[in-house]
Amino acid sequence: MSPTAPPETWGNSTIRTACPLDCPDSCTVDVTVEKGRIKKIDGGDANPTTANFICAKVRRFGERVYGEHRLLYPAVRRGPKGQGNLARVSWDEALDLVARRMQEIKDQHGAAAILPFSYGGSNGLLTQDTNDAELWRRFGTSRLARTVCAAPTGAANQALYGKMPGVVYADYPHARLIILWGVNPTASGIHQVPYIKDARRAGAKMVVIDPRRTSLAKGADLHLAVRPGTDLPIALALHRVLFEEGHADAAFLAAHTTGADRLRAAAQPWTIERAAQEAGIEAADLRQLADWYAHASPALVRCGWGLERNRNGGNAAAAILALPAVANKFGVRGGGFSMSSSLAFGLRAASWVDTPEPQTRLVNMNHLGRALTEYTDPPVQMLFVYNCNPLATMPDQNRVLRGLQRDDLFTVVFEQVLTDTTRYADVVLPATTFLEQYDIAKAYGPISLQLVRPVIEPQGEARHNAAVFSELAERLGVGRAEEDAETLLRITARMPNGIGAELLEHGIATPPHGGAPVQFVDVFPLTPDRKANLFPEAAAAAAPAGLYGYQPDPATAEYPLALISPATEKTISSTLGELRSRPAVLHIHPSDASARGITQDDAVRVFNALGELQCPANLTADIRHGTVGFSKGVWRKNTYNGSTANALCPDTLTDLGGGACFNDARVEVALLGRH
Ligand code: SF4
Repeated sequence: MSPTAPPETWGNSTIRTACPLDCPDSCTVDVTVEKGRIKKIDGGDANPTTANFICAKVRRFGERVYGEHRLLYPAVRRGPKGQGNLARVSWDEALDLVARRMQEIKDQHGAAAILPFSYGGSNGLLTQDTNDAELWRRFGTSRLARTVCAAPTGAANQALYGKMPGVVYADYPHARLIILWGVNPTASGIHQVPYIKDARRAGAKMVVIDPRRTSLAKGADLHLAVRPGTDLPIALALHRVLFEEGHADAAFLAAHTTGADRLRAAAQPWTIERAAQEAGIEAADLRQLADWYAHASPALVRCGWGLERNRNGGNAAAAILALPAVANKFGVRGGGFSMSSSLAFGLRAASWVDTPEPQTRLVNMNHLGRALTEYTDPPVQMLFVYNCNPLATMPDQNRVLRGLQRDDLFTVVFEQVLTDTTRYADVVLPATTFLEQYDIAKAYGPISLQLVRPVIEPQGEARHNAAVFSELAERLGVGRAEEDAETLLRITARMPNGIGAELLEHGIATPPHGGAPVQFVDVFPLTPDRKANLFPEAAAAAAPAGLYGYQPDPATAEYPLALISPATEKTISSTLGELRSRPAVLHIHPSDASARGITQDDAVRVFNALGELQCPANLTADIRHGTVGFSKGVWRKNTYNGSTANALCPDTLTDLGGGACFNDARVEVALLGRH
């Protein structure tokens, strides 16, 4: 099918597309369509890693497309903010209103009073950082640091390796030791699981480091249920063993790294016993891991995103990613680290966004609540939200809520469904889903780049991001309107090495290195000297306690429990949260529950100085004593009092990368009522 051909909308057909949602895997997706309506969503085989199966979340995506929450028409608010009472208007009326307000705000306060706010809700290369970036840059709005996820790990990976591509899932069966560190692929990145099982059948040992006993942890050779935020001492203790007991590869360190001596000095205070005590695990278990890692080859560390969501997250990621360099686990298939392969194709938005980034105010997205309620220079007068549901996903939820309730704040939400945030919008613009539009899906687990094709017509009057932002730019005199297919052709024409032409012709691009590079054989650090920098000076200067400096647990006698909010099998971040009908539960260890007189299914209050969450309790020994868990991405309707875990999360920032510290929430739990 030509990329500019209209979607097939009649008869019975199966149309191939790809999933661009914020998930590492980027599945090929085959959609059966009958008389223009989706009948079935299933896996296709173009991306060999995800061959023929997709997650249960996206199998249900038709319920989002056709569901009661779907936004079908542009609308304006009628009635108080928060109620979601909307009156339909035309696209012309809506865009005229938005453009007029933007110009008025620019004239009165300066364009920096406009805050565009987006994250990975669509996550394709066409629906973010294209015509939207051109509009914001040319108009001179505030800029957004998109740091809610992957910022600390990304900063560490960039500083140490320049984001060298990692070991792909297909090479996991070559490993003899796999360490799953702060990652739960049964919830996100499900296509890793079969490869891990293949490795296990071939004799690989598996270690899981996670405060929860996940399904993979239950089958692991070793499970370290660490206290949240203590991954850094664990990693430094492993370094100490490697350096002090003769397992560091001096020749490799001399040839391919810098800064090893300073890393060694930073690790020196962290004996196995001290680190184990800090993490609340058995010293013998940590010793076992150190011995296995020192001697196994190929040995693979899968560094996840769970370990970054705390005050030590960036340093923890840096210390973990440095392990394969110190022990030289590179150079063999299945050895090294897995983090993100997003740069494997060498694609950067700078290739197709022409306008340079102006040096306007930079707002860290984790500080949205502060920006809306405290910033004065200038105050935020317009919030333009797209690809994102910040009321459900940002820390310090109550402060975000207070900001959205401001009568003098003009909020635009460009969305697919009526989210928590959309209820506070003054203008609502309906967006197409990935099944109704062109996009480009780039995986960050496997190395894969696929064309996303529309399989049905847009529902109602929903429109593509690229078309709407360019039309807005034209109204404001800073650009030219173009349809999404035109944007697609323009962007693919700028991709290097003929990637774009291949994508348009075949729907998928050929991955470099056969899609499975061996680290330090096929790919090397993308740092200026092509070496792994184990003690990057810029990171050392940025981290409050210095590079590899540990900041202690923020628990107090008043709020002694660590609250974590991990990803689940139900949503992709908060996407598809509208389909959840039952209340979300607080997972609590039986010993913590009984100390508070709480039994299964009791209603509980989870609280700290920032707020309170009310929900049922689920007693489970699958979470460590002293830690409680509540799912990431839950919408406000799924708790008793309209607050989620984010109401208890501080908006403090990680040591590197300015990331969110969700897992630094410290809380108390009390009985609210008997079930
Ligand atoms: S969310 Fe992930 S696993 Fe699910 S279909 Fe999309 S890429 Fe595949």
